[in-house]
Order: sequence, then C-alpha cells, then structure tokens
Amino acid sequence: MLKKSGLLAMPAILMTIVLTASLSLLTFYFKDTLLKSYKIKLKQIADVTAKVLRDDIELHGDKHIDFDVLATDIGSSSGMRVTIIDPEGVVVGDSKVSSHDLKQMENYGSRPEIQAAMSSGSGLARRFRQALGYDQLYYATKIEINSEGSHADGHQHGASSLTHGEADLLVVRTALALNILGQQMLWIWLWVGGISILGVMIVVIISVLFSKMIDKQASVERSALEGEVKERTHELSLMQRLGSLMSACTTVEGAANVVHPIANHLLPGCTGGAITLIKSSRNRLDLLTQWGEQWKGSERFEPSDCWSLLKGHTHYSFEDGLEIHCAHSANKEDDFQVCIPLVAQGETLGVLHLSYENHEELEANNAKAEAMAEQIGLALANMRLREDLRQQAIRDPLTGLFNRRHMMEFLEQRIYNTETQSAPLSVMMIDLDHFKRFNDTFGHDAGDYVLKQVSMELKQATRETDLVCRYGGEEICIICPDSSLEETAELGRALVARIAGQGMQFNGQSLGNVTISLGVATRQNIDTSVDLLLKDADNALYEAKEQGRNRVIVSSGEDAEGSFPEL
Ligand code: GH3
Ligand code: MG
Ligand code: MG
Repeated sequence: MLKKSGLLAMPAILMTIVLTASLSLLTFYFKDTLLKSYKIKLKQIADVTAKVLRDDIELHGDKHIDFDVLATDIGSSSGMRVTIIDPEGVVVGDSKVSSHDLKQMENYGSRPEIQAAMSSGSGLARRFRQALGYDQLYYATKIEINSEGSHADGHQHGASSLTHGEADLLVVRTALALNILGQQMLWIWLWVGGISILGVMIVVIISVLFSKMIDKQASVERSALEGEVKERTHELSLMQRLGSLMSACTTVEGAANVVHPIANHLLPGCTGGAITLIKSSRNRLDLLTQWGEQWKGSERFEPSDCWSLLKGHTHYSFEDGLEIHCAHSANKEDDFQVCIPLVAQGETLGVLHLSYENHEELEANNAKAEAMAEQIGLALANMRLREDLRQQAIRDPLTGLFNRRHMMEFLEQRIYNTETQSAPLSVMMIDLDHFKRFNDTFGHDAGDYVLKQVSMELKQATRETDLVCRYGGEEICIICPDSSLEETAELGRALVARIAGQGMQFNGQSLGNVTISLGVATRQNIDTSVDLLLKDADNALYEAKEQGRNRVIVSSGEDAEGSFPEL
C-alpha cells in the first residue's frame, strides 16, 4: 500500500520540483525584464518631462512656468513620481508634494542620481525608502535651457535659481516604487503557481484514476485467470481420476461405469454419451455403456457404419456447414454428434459417442473429449492386456482350455472355501485312447488337431459352470461343481458317446473315430482332499482303460478300491 502511494506521489513530487525551479527561473527572468522596462519607462517620462519643460521655457520663458503643476500633471498621467530640481539641488516641482510644502523639502543635490545627472547628463539609482518600506528606482536627467534671463529673479519658484554658468540648468527626476515589481511578481507567482498546482492536481487525479482503472482491469483479469486455472486444474484432476479409476477396474463393464459421472462433470452441455467396443473378430461393434439421454443409435453395428472408423479420426455430424451423420445414429436432426475412435497402441478398440444440443458447447468440449477418449482407450488397452496376460497364465495355448495350475487353484478354493466346501463336487478324468498310435499314424499335427477338436467338443457339451482343463498330454479333466456323482457320470457317458460319434478329418484326410476313456469321482465328505479326489478319478480312468477303453467308470470312493462299476 505504502509502495503504491509512494509511486503515485512520485510524479507529483517531481512536477512540483520542476515547477518550482521553472517558477524561480521565470521570476528571475521577469524581474530583470521588468526592471529594464521600468528603467526605460523612467527614462521616457523623464525625457518627456524634459522636452515639455524645454518647449514651455522656450515658448513662455521660465518665469511663467509652474514646475510643480507640470510635475504633478506628468506624474499623475504617468503613474510615477516626477521631481524637477534646480542646479542647486532645490526641488522646484514634485508630483507627490504640494507646492507650498516644497520649501520644507530637503536639498536633493547630494542624491547620487542627481549628482550623476549633473556630471554626466543622467543618473540611475535604487534606494530603500524607510518611510515607504520598499525600494525606489530613480532616474535623473539634466536639461540645459537657453532662455534669456528667464530665471533672473527666480522668484517664481521660491528659492530656486536656474542659472548655471551660461546655460540654465534643470534636472528632471522620475521615481518609481519597486513594490509594483513585487506586486507584479506576486501576480505572476499566483498565476503560474496556480496553474502549476492545478496541473499537478490534474496529473495526480489522472494518475490515481488511471491506476485505479488499471487495478480494476488487472483484478478482473486476475480473477478470470484464477477461475480458468481452477477450472483447468479441476479438469486435469478429473482426467487423472478417470485414468486411475479405469486402470483399477478389472472388468470392462466396471470401467465403463466410471466414465458416466466423470463425463457429466468434464463435459458440460453434453446431453448423452456412449461407448461401443469392437469385437475381437473386428466385424462388429457392441454398445458397452451409455449415459445421459437414451442412446440414440444402434446397439450393434458394423465398423463401416461409423465415419470416425472409416476416416480414422474424430467425426462431427455437423462440420464446415456440412451435415453428415453416421449410419449407426438414429436421431439425425436435433443433435450434434461426435464420434471419437478409442485408439491405444495403434489399435482401434471402440468409439466414444457424444451428443450435444448446442454446437458451441460441443466445440468448447472438443479438447477435453479427445483427452477423455485417449484415457478410455488407454485404460481399455491396459485392461485387455491384463486380461490377455491372465488368460495366458490360466489357459493352455493349444486347446484354449484352462491349464492344470488354474484347475488346482479352482479345486482348492472350492474345497477349502467354507461357503462351497459342503456343496457336491465331482471330477471327470478323461484320456484319449491309443493316442500315441494315432500320432504315429497321422502325424503330430493331426494329433494336435484332434486334441483341439476333442477339447472343443467337451467344452461345448458341458455346462458354463463346469471347468474343462487340460490336465497334461492328452489327458483332460472336467470339474463339475454342484454336481452329484450320478449326474456327472451321466454327463460323462454323453461325452464319451459324443466323441466316439465324431468322424474327424484333417487336411482332407479321414482320421477315423477317436474315443476317450473317462473316470468319474466325487467328494465323499468334507475331509476329502483335492489330491484324493483326483486320485479317485484317475483310478476310475485307469479302470476304464483296463476294461477296454471308450467307456465311463465311476469311482465308488477310497473304501471301494478295486470295485469300479462300469456304467
Ligand atoms: P492309452 O489309450 O493307454 O492312453 O494309450 P496312449 O497311446 O494314448 O497313451 P500313451 O501314454 O502311451 O501315449 C500318449 C501319447 O499322447 C504320447 C504323446 O505323443 C501324445 N501326446 C501327448 N501330448 C500331445 C500333444 O500335445 N500333441 C500330440 N499330437 N500328441 C500328444
Ligand atoms: Mg491315451
Ligand atoms: Mg495318457
């Protein structure tokens, strides 16, 4: 605050200093000029008086001239004191002194200006007059008059005599009070000072107003900037939150739900949105999620129905005066729609669709929508990557079935989880019959093909809840939760019959019929371990092989070792 008022006072102080200096210079200059003009004026009036005197004397003779009246006339018309002095220094006329007081006046002969005039024709002096209290400027000039006996008696003028050698002599003195100079200087001071003060005041007022205006403008700009920074920070934090929440989600559906509230905050004016995902077959997009107003488009469409996928970048339904809607869009009139491809690691995973009623709001949100699509794309790609890795970790690459490790984890979780440990749990252990011979006959590739085909058949013939796993080599294990021994055996028989009934072909060559042998076991009680359960099933399978293959043997449990009824 102090700093600011100091800054404001600076120009005023500077101006005051400059004005005072200018005023002093002006004063000095004017004083000098005025003095010069006074001197000229004094001389002029003295000369005029001298001329009048000379003319009057020449015309009338000095006897008929009243010097005092003449001095008074000229003095009153010129505004200065006019004094006429005879060669003896006696005052014979004075504009400021009445004629009868002249006699009381002292002799002026010793006055410096008079002495100078007597000796050199004219004289100038400046003196302080105690009685008046200020300086007076005097000018005296000598007049030599040739008038015959004009002053012979000199009575006309009291004691004065004009005779001085051969020529009559008079001295005319003019005087001017220098307090006029002071008064004039005061006026100049008042004028110049007044104008200066006015100027300073105007400058200060303008400065204050200007500074207030700048302050106001700056504060408006500052608050606008602060608002913008706040908004951007909020948007950034929302964007970060979107990224972190989405990457924390384990399922695509969960991630989709995160998008709704963030999109509502991040894209004001957006009336609705949707995310469609490209199938792994890449020939179709399915609606994953939608928010806001009802999704105004097909829930399933081909990639060629969306302009953004055809172009490879964002498509606006209304752009550069052109209105081009995507084929998947249902409402083509009221809305301004944007389709932004969800791209990550160079692969298009889907499309972010947004609808607006107002084109300005669409434009204002463009950058944010693009950033959002980028985040969603990345999150989806990460999720897919994670899912791929998970699948790689739990699946067998040849058959696509779950691997043995996953099967063991599943079994253990099922057996030791208090919620599920008392529920029925059955296992089918399956082995392809004479597979070595099959490999030897048709080759390893044909063997692989058969393995895949059998796996696929088994997967298709079992329930969603059953876990079909590749146990190892050409052995497959199927876990049947919540399934009794009898139900599982029934399913097993169906599987054996299904595989045996398949005539397989590989590269145009008939592979004949492939058969499987199958052992079924179920958990006897809560204490039955995973190993024991698998061992039971394996024993039953062994028995099926023993009994001639292409059949199901049901384990009757650990107590019934050796007795495997063929079903
Ligand atoms: P059995 O009816 O007694 O089961 O006779 P088998 O020939 O099927 O049994 P064996 O254990 O003697 O041979 C298993 C064969 O399965 C040996 C192996 O070459 C083959 N095999 C195991 N894994 C694969 C695989 O991934 N691909 C192919 N093509 N063959 C496999
Ligand atoms: Mg075998
Ligand atoms: Mg085997």
